[in-house]
Amino acid sequence: MRIGILSESPADEAAVKILAEAVLEVEIEVEPVRLRDGRGVSAVLNQVEVVTRKLYYSTEACGLIFVVDSDDTSMHLPEHPLQKDDDCRLCQVRENLQEIKERLNLRYNQIPFNFAVGLAIPAVEAWYLCNTKDGMNKTETAWFNAKDKKQKPYNRKQLKHLVYGTDRPSLPFETKIAIREATRLAQDISILEQNFPNGFGSLANDLRKWIQ
Ligand SMILES: [Zn+2]
Repeated sequence: MRIGILSESPADEAAVKILAEAVLEVEIEVEPVRLRDGRGVSAVLNQVEVVTRKLYYSTEACGLIFVVDSDDTSMHLPEHPLQKDDDCRLCQVRENLQEIKERLNLRYNQIPFNFAVGLAIPAVEAWYLCNTKDGMNKTETAWFNAKDKKQKPYNRKQLKHLVYGTDRPSLPFETKIAIREATRLAQDISILEQNFPNGFGSLANDLRKWIQ
């Protein structure tokens, strides 16, 4: 299965591939899509349309997996988008992708093209800590229960320290850890889905629709 993966860093993309394979139960061949080494959410949001067009018109990829961190924006909830939350990055991305899709013309190879969107709450490092001692209280529920934004139970910097031992890992080291943790989580992907039902669950649900 050929797929494009766009996330906030090449390290995240390596992990997302492994997690998506665990959901789909098939091997993924990644279609290289990253345009430049820009890291962070604005860099990927800026390139998502160009990446989608490249995948759609110039490859045989069957879709794009797009994963971003929620950072300090709202958590995605099942009642969205009916009860719209303009601060939800997952819903914003979905809207954006839908608009991009509407602007696409017929595909020469007629292969159906899908999107799968995930939101790491508050950052992908929380996923990497899932089902470890350090990750016990770093689930979506823990994050949601901390209502006051100024008193979040943990922040991204702390998550990075727990995962990499530093908040500024080199890309090769970050990639190595991301692959190691994703491989561990892939052994029973339901645990990640239970602990991150909205952000990772959305991604998993989208992916499962691809193979129905
Ligand atoms: Zn949402």
